[in-house]
Amino acid sequence: MINRWLNQIEESFAQMVEWRRHMHQHPELSFQEVETPKMIASILEGFGIEVRINVGGRGVVGIIRGKNPGKTIALRADFDALPIQDEKDVPYKSKVNGVMHACGHDGHTATLLAVAKVLQENREQLAGKVVLLHQHAEEMCPGGAISMIEDGCLEGVDAVFGKKSMGENTLIEIDPSMGGEDFAYYLKEKPGMFFYTGARNEKIQANYPHHHPKFNFDEQAMVMAGKGLISIVHHYLASEETNKERKANVATEEANNEAIIS
Ligand SMILES: [Zn+2]
Ligand SMILES: [Zn+2]
Repeated sequence: MINRWLNQIEESFAQMVEWRRHMHQHPELSFQEVETPKMIASILEGFGIEVRINVGGRGVVGIIRGKNPGKTIALRADFDALPIQDEKDVPYKSKVNGVMHACGHDGHTATLLAVAKVLQENREQLAGKVVLLHQHAEEMCPGGAISMIEDGCLEGVDAVFGKKSMGENTLIEIDPSMGGEDFAYYLKEKPGMFFYTGARNEKIQANYPHHHPKFNFDEQAMVMAGKGLISIVHHYLASEETNKERKANVATEEANNEAIIS
């Protein structure tokens, strides 16, 4: 089953690129986001996901309800842009003078939207709930995380996960840190994890640091990040039957292996 979910993420690649590039062309500054949260809410609603808007100001929260009861886990993606002039030479360059997605938040958002679609389509196999935290204003202090938490976005949540794109093609876990990332506010409230996915690719000039006027990332990183989030959800919320199915598969595999050996 997990393989099917992961394949569905791969199949969402073109859609993720389209969402990401749309956001990239229409970036909005922290605490001034209007169209971005609207777009997110309407995409989630289009999937049949229950949506709460204006959470803590401009945040959007979606809730995916699994068929069976279980834990609740939250996945977070930020969606604000920066007061930087886009100096890249790409067809999807920012159309807003002096404003740019130079921190990959367009990618985070597109990834979480694809993850939401796959989970909603497979909610029959979920035991528990997935809360989608689309957060405004990560770049400006105090970030949107605090106000979203104050507005109850973590109520009933057992664990919270977030990700950021950077560096080489790896998936690594880092310790909670307060340094320049307001995800730490969620981790003050709930257990969870913040992970980085590799998004650098010299071949397409995606080798500038975050907040650089030429910052870009390898869009394939969205597939990797999406798979990471899907695997986390699967680990926490795959229903009992699914677990049985998984154990049965492992048992069959082991039996097959033994048969081959003997
Ligand atoms: Zn940033
Ligand atoms: Zn950022």
